[in-house]
Amino acid sequence: MNYYSLTNKQHRVGFREAVLQSIGPDGGLYFPEKITPLPGSFFTALNKRDNPSIAYTVLAPFIGDTLPENELQQIINETFSFDFPVVPIEKDIYTLELFHGPTLAFKDVGARFMSRCLAYFNRENNRKTTILVATSGDTGGAVANGFLGIKNVDVVVLYPKGKVSPIQEAQLTTLGQNISALEVQGSFDDCQAMVKKAFQDSDLKTKNLTSANSINVARWLPQMCYFFFAYKVLQDTGKPLYVSCPSGNFGNIGAGMLAKKLGLPIAHFIAATNANDTVPRYLDNGIYQPKATICTVSNAMDVSDPSNFIRIQELYARDLNQLKKDFSSYTFSDTETRIAMESVFQKVQYIMDPHGAVGYLGLQKKLAHNPDITGLFLETAHPVKFLGTVQSYLNHGLLIPESLQEMMDKPKQSILIRNYEELKDYLRQ
Ligand SMILES: *Cc1c(COP(=O)(O)O)cnc(C)c1O
Repeated sequence: MNYYSLTNKQHRVGFREAVLQSIGPDGGLYFPEKITPLPGSFFTALNKRDNPSIAYTVLAPFIGDTLPENELQQIINETFSFDFPVVPIEKDIYTLELFHGPTLAFKDVGARFMSRCLAYFNRENNRKTTILVATSGDTGGAVANGFLGIKNVDVVVLYPKGKVSPIQEAQLTTLGQNISALEVQGSFDDCQAMVKKAFQDSDLKTKNLTSANSINVARWLPQMCYFFFAYKVLQDTGKPLYVSCPSGNFGNIGAGMLAKKLGLPIAHFIAATNANDTVPRYLDNGIYQPKATICTVSNAMDVSDPSNFIRIQELYARDLNQLKKDFSSYTFSDTETRIAMESVFQKVQYIMDPHGAVGYLGLQKKLAHNPDITGLFLETAHPVKFLGTVQSYLNHGLLIPESLQEMMDKPKQSILIRNYEELKDYLRQ
């Protein structure tokens, strides 16, 4: 399988190069050259297969022969080694819990898959790779955890100072070894802009920089599997399936929409955002106009210029009217998020985290006009990651898992970065 750059279709590379380079030389995201639907028999027999075996069938065509079969199987077994439960919430509403991995957020899957691919690609040469990653909260922890102790890989995480939760910060700043944390005076979008700039900076060529954000295909593609796992459980409801994803950088939902192109019968996707509403506004008025990033209680979605939205547009040949048939996007305030968390907790004692709650709201809004559907929203993080917010909203204590408490008690190690020049100096030292 080859990948082309979204800013220059002539530039094509294989999976290995796409992973190692992250983005094309011109700054374009990589996109698969061929999307071949899976046979109908695969979908009808889904419930006879376990998750790793489903993931193998879904992912293998995208990897091609850059990884030997047994190696890919091994990587997939390790990546998908935890549960992905579908939990009923209310009539016709379910949630898919994606937080059972080591850092309690859905990004563990992409981070684990990518780190293992990279370890394989680096296994023989002594090439040293530096992973540069911007995080709005959860990516950094997942990537740091996924790459901890991996040979020939250094990880440098950029995060916006004061804008991540204490648990998220501990997950980035207490690991040591090959992981370094840079605390940036600015927003997530500022962190992401610095990372993109570093990739195109010829002075840093010798550093073999690569990204572990969802712009990297090895982070992005494995997320497709969640949607197959959910469909396996929900296919018997006999009603059209609508899926709502709490969205920030639009990688997760983009992967779901790629899964639909492979034939997965999901009728409609809802991208639920917090106050960072660039995409909902775009669907309304056709003008794509990011504003300054707004801080919200669902901080991992505080993104105003979502990198992956271009991939979703590409899936629909950049035709907005076609896209709107399969895709809606709504924005919700922190007040609406709090009320949703309270009401679900009171009604059914289910504790949603602020991100999952935004997803729930998106689904509810759609359900109001389409009563005869099965609705699924993604619970993208464990509520304990947002302990302060959740406890104060619900007036209900949460237990911190022991492994997290140990991490929180370790000293924080991070370096303050104020601008791109300081990042560059740090990388060159
Ligand atoms: C990253 C993240 C999101 C947003 O996912 P995208 O793929 O960036 O849209 C939502 N919820 C949580 C908890 C996250 O960490």
